[in-house]
Amino acid sequence: MAARPATRPHYHVASPLPNDPTRTDATMTDPVRRLDFGRVAVHFGDKSGKYPDGNQVIVRGTDTRAAFDTPLVSNRIGPEFDATELVLLGHAHEDHMAGLHRLPRAAVQVHEHDLDAVRSWEGLVRHYGLSLAAAEPMRAKIRREFFYAPRPDATGYRDGATWDLGQARVRAFHLPGHTAGHCALLVEPEGVAFIGDIDLSGFGPYYGDAASNLADFRRSIARLPEIPARVWVTSHHRGVYTERAAFLAALAAYAAKIDERSERLLEMLSGGLKTLDELVAMRLIYPTDFQEIWIEDAERHTIRRHLDELLEAGRVRCVDDAGRYARA
Ligand SMILES: [Zn+2]
Repeated sequence: MAARPATRPHYHVASPLPNDPTRTDATMTDPVRRLDFGRVAVHFGDKSGKYPDGNQVIVRGTDTRAAFDTPLVSNRIGPEFDATELVLLGHAHEDHMAGLHRLPRAAVQVHEHDLDAVRSWEGLVRHYGLSLAAAEPMRAKIRREFFYAPRPDATGYRDGATWDLGQARVRAFHLPGHTAGHCALLVEPEGVAFIGDIDLSGFGPYYGDAASNLADFRRSIARLPEIPARVWVTSHHRGVYTERAAFLAALAAYAAKIDERSERLLEMLSGGLKTLDELVAMRLIYPTDFQEIWIEDAERHTIRRHLDELLEAGRVRCVDDAGRYARA
């Protein structure tokens, strides 16, 4: 899921950047497109890494070859990916772990708050917050579609961790919200920041898992521009930004989606009192005719978080013991 996250299938397709090297139509059999910044290579997934695919970053240190995440496209890169010795996961979600099965001997590291989700299926279920009914179908789906296998050998890192790969250094910036352990990874001296699922997509931020947090996501969006980067690489869809002004404009539009959702939720309450179940059935973030195993759980987590914010702000109230909500 995770995809879910943020990037789960969404319906607003952003236009490619004018200079987007991936703008021409690609099929899964075409060579993987790439961009290079010094020792950093960005391999673009299908449709510029639109979910379920993603964009693969590989750093060729003189001592160590590191991959940031392992999206589906990693299965089509070949020896350059398969020689990876160290996988630094920016966070745990099925679409970022789809190439781990190719690297049984590589060291795998992820922020300590996402570690259980990488080490075991039970940890991943808790991370997603899947209902009992959704858990088994989800496991079958991500095994089939994302080559899912847990990595009990994975280890944790913390905010500020650094890795010296040999003439290339990586630094982790903990930017939670999408998941509790979500991080950006900055490569120096190139100044390339892999910003993961703060993906700047037209869908907007995804915080529909148990391990997500809306207030943290808002803070992480505010902190992201402080990372001393010259190039920003998203996991999905948007790809690469090389101009700070364009990156900041995309970030502002992305952040605005959060408040747009709160306004939409208030409109949903305008028609009368609603329970959380009724709001979930109405759908806040996905179309009502779109069905997936995880949809109801994701809608519930997302709506609950907006209701909490609106209750706190005094814009919504819970009116009775039946758990019905009204505009304040
Ligand atoms: Zn994700």
